[in-house]
Amino acid sequence: MFLDRDGTLIRTDVVDGVSHPPDSVDVLELLPGVPEALARLKTAGLPLIVVTNQPDVARGTQTREAVEAINADLQRRLPLDAVLCCYHDDGDDCACRKPRPGLLIDAAERLDVDLRRAFLVGDRWRNTKAGRRAGCTTILLRQPTTAAATKPRPTSRSPTWPRRPRSSYAAERSGPGEDLRRQRQPGRHRGVAQARLPERHHDQPVHSVREERRAFADHIRDIIALCQRYEGNLPLSVELYASGPREMLAQAERFLADFGDYDNLVVKVPIGWDELQVIREIKRMGGKVNCTCCMSYNQALIAAQSGADYVSLFWGRIRDIGYDSSSIVRQVRQTFKEWQYPSEIIVGSIRQMIDINEAFQAGADIVTVPPKFLPLLCAHPKTDEADAEFMNDFRGWSSAEPMNGQPALAPPDLTPPSLTRGADGH
Ligand SMILES: [Mg+2]
Ligand SMILES: [Zn+2]
Repeated sequence: MFLDRDGTLIRTDVVDGVSHPPDSVDVLELLPGVPEALARLKTAGLPLIVVTNQPDVARGTQTREAVEAINADLQRRLPLDAVLCCYHDDGDDCACRKPRPGLLIDAAERLDVDLRRAFLVGDRWRNTKAGRRAGCTTILLRQPTTAAATKPRPTSRSPTWPRRPRSSYAAERSGPGEDLRRQRQPGRHRGVAQARLPERHHDQPVHSVREERRAFADHIRDIIALCQRYEGNLPLSVELYASGPREMLAQAERFLADFGDYDNLVVKVPIGWDELQVIREIKRMGGKVNCTCCMSYNQALIAAQSGADYVSLFWGRIRDIGYDSSSIVRQVRQTFKEWQYPSEIIVGSIRQMIDINEAFQAGADIVTVPPKFLPLLCAHPKTDEADAEFMNDFRGWSSAEPMNGQPALAPPDLTPPSLTRGADGH
């Protein structure tokens, strides 16, 4: 039996998706039920092996000695057979940092464990992913609050704003789209790739879901390969297509396990009351969230409060029902700034060129646009006119004065062209 340490055996604060384990034995606290559960597992004859990532050592915010002291204390208090630790961070590219299975494989060799018959219990996707890679049966823990909240319950949605079937959003939510990003923070990623299931999947009969999921996974892997080829740090939003909080969470966990090795994977969750729990839980599991389908100020705010890394507002759809998208985005921007929310604003549902300009001016960090607009962003009829005049003048001038009896010059490669033309008064 492999056991994760932080958040599984001991209480660990998670702030903005980052786990902060106790930094000394004094503040070490076992989670309720852990000693009893481990005693029962031990009685059943299972070796108990802790496998834990401790990247704070590589990050310099924790000493190896402090981690070892906590591990030694755990071994005194719990019937553990071994505690195996990875002290590296992502940049070290080691074989032992979960989701890589190095620690488990190492333990299996040392302690003669049959990985096929082993179990792994953990609280984040990195654990279950490592467990699956090693061939174990994996168990992902959820917070008790979430378990309670995800029980089916009467809907609290307003009768005057019935929720449309999710497939009706498909026209605008179907990616992939090209994204423009205001570069407020140099060095950060410069765009967002969007991916979602092709529309037909919504209507698939239940029996084909397995196959479709496989095809979907291939689709996403292809997009990840593209992102890695052209810009490794491009955030990729993949939208959940399950309905109901329990199903959405299970699917989010699959997404994180299947695609979480891509650092900038973002799980896309539509705004909704039950969905707030899903957002929270994905953050706790170590994922990133893009809360989508927001049409109002309050929705965007609640999404950010729940921890969404990105909040998507639908420009064209907001206008459809007579509201001013520009003032909504402006207000959201203002409040994020005042409250120092780190969430970034994505504006989607762009239909006209002017929408792009207005969305950025209103404070969007990212604008998702149909690819057809990209060349148009560089174009202007007056530019064509000026360019044609210049070329015409140039041809007249160069043929009037052939150099050394040579024929007229071919259009030269003028760099930078704007300077040359500017000097000519155009
Ligand atoms: Mg953990
Ligand atoms: Zn390591």
